[in-house]
Amino acid sequence: MRYSQLFGKTNKNAPHDADCANARWLVQGGFVDQLAAGVYTFLPLGLRVLDKVKRIIREEMDALGAQELLMPALQPAEPWQVTGRWDDPGEEVMFQFEGRGGKKFGLGWTHEEIVTPLVQRHVKSYRDLPLSVYQIQDKFRNEPRAKSGLLRGREFSMKDLYSFHLTLADLEAFYQKAAQAYLRVFKRCGLNALMVEASGGAFSKYSHEFQVPTEAGEDTVFSCVKCNWAQNKEICTLKNGDACPPGCGGQVREMKAIEVGNIFQLKNRFSDSFKFDVAGDDGKPARVLMGCYGIGPSRVMGTAVEVHHDDKGILWPREIAPYLVHVVSLPAKDKTEQERVMNAAEGIVSDLQDAGIDVLWDDRVSVSAGEKFADADLIGCPLRLIVSQKTLADGAVEWKERHEGGSRLVKSGDVLEEAGTFAKEPYETTVR
Ligand code: ATP
Ligand code: MG
Repeated sequence: MRYSQLFGKTNKNAPHDADCANARWLVQGGFVDQLAAGVYTFLPLGLRVLDKVKRIIREEMDALGAQELLMPALQPAEPWQVTGRWDDPGEEVMFQFEGRGGKKFGLGWTHEEIVTPLVQRHVKSYRDLPLSVYQIQDKFRNEPRAKSGLLRGREFSMKDLYSFHLTLADLEAFYQKAAQAYLRVFKRCGLNALMVEASGGAFSKYSHEFQVPTEAGEDTVFSCVKCNWAQNKEICTLKNGDACPPGCGGQVREMKAIEVGNIFQLKNRFSDSFKFDVAGDDGKPARVLMGCYGIGPSRVMGTAVEVHHDDKGILWPREIAPYLVHVVSLPAKDKTEQERVMNAAEGIVSDLQDAGIDVLWDDRVSVSAGEKFADADLIGCPLRLIVSQKTLADGAVEWKERHEGGSRLVKSGDVLEEAGTFAKEPYETTVR
């Protein structure tokens, strides 16, 4: 992609109302554009990041054996009245309104009320279970405090998966597998998420939240410094420095964190409401048990910026970077030299692209080197390749990784191979 053609450019000035790093850098970098509090357009650069997060999630959910579908965001009141959630929490969470003829509708803020009767219409026998389905879709919530950039939206992206089981043991086994898949998703997105015990709501003793420690977080968690025990402050009776409850010898530490995922054993909460039974292997009706599993891809994107930025801009983790490589061609002293630089840069760009590597090329000729470097820092692609009259005189390009201070020259003939190796390196190496 040529930067000169890209829709959505960087901005030198921070938005005046940015209350956290992602609200600032994502707007300044040209990733998103704010329409209203908690409502954003994803510009081409930002959409690439969001799509990469979604792709990672899809890969891990498919590997669990879950099947992707897409349910409507526009929902009639009736199934919500069956579960009692049309009135409580009702308008507090859900955007509710009337269509023609006074018919009541709302915008989906979660999908148990849609998925339970949907699966009930299609699944009649124990032979059809277990089953798990998921979607990635925008959810709508009438959040009282939409803020913090992508962290708390009124319209935001959610992956929600629902699983259906005959026995509690089967639900439990799937729940554990899903938890491991969640940890893999966050790791691939460059996030070290803790699996934290949290309130199970009305249905179960605990749910599990996936919390990324950072000062920008709204949640407070207690986590053991030694083992992986962690609990949300909402349900925790400990204080900072107390001994770890499972007795590993470590101490618990209080920290701020962002919830990026949440999984629940719903059990029969919704199958009771809709009287969802299947024919059991003994021919008798058996009540179906459910689990639900949510991740917010847009919140994951915002969280990645909270965790990976410096005072110049974003440091994208490799797998979710908008482009892996940012080729920067610099202004030259005359027209002939400029042409040489542009031709060399174009050659590198097309070689990299042919090798399947995503490249952004800052091809602007009337912009200073300093301005180009500032933009590249802001946008935050993991690898920058600088092509200039000076580097070409050495038969080389300058290789600079976003998370490192220094740079080095790489011979033009070696760039493709070295970049190929860089692209294949484990993502952990680029995550601080
Ligand atoms: P919170 O406690 O932060 O309001 P929640 O517990 O209500 O979130 P869930 O219903 O568990 O959220 O939703 C699943 C996932 O969707 C969350 O873990 C989070 O990643 C994401 N999510 C929830 N609400 C928002 C929001 N307003 N903006 C962006 N992402 C959200
Ligand atoms: Mg939650």
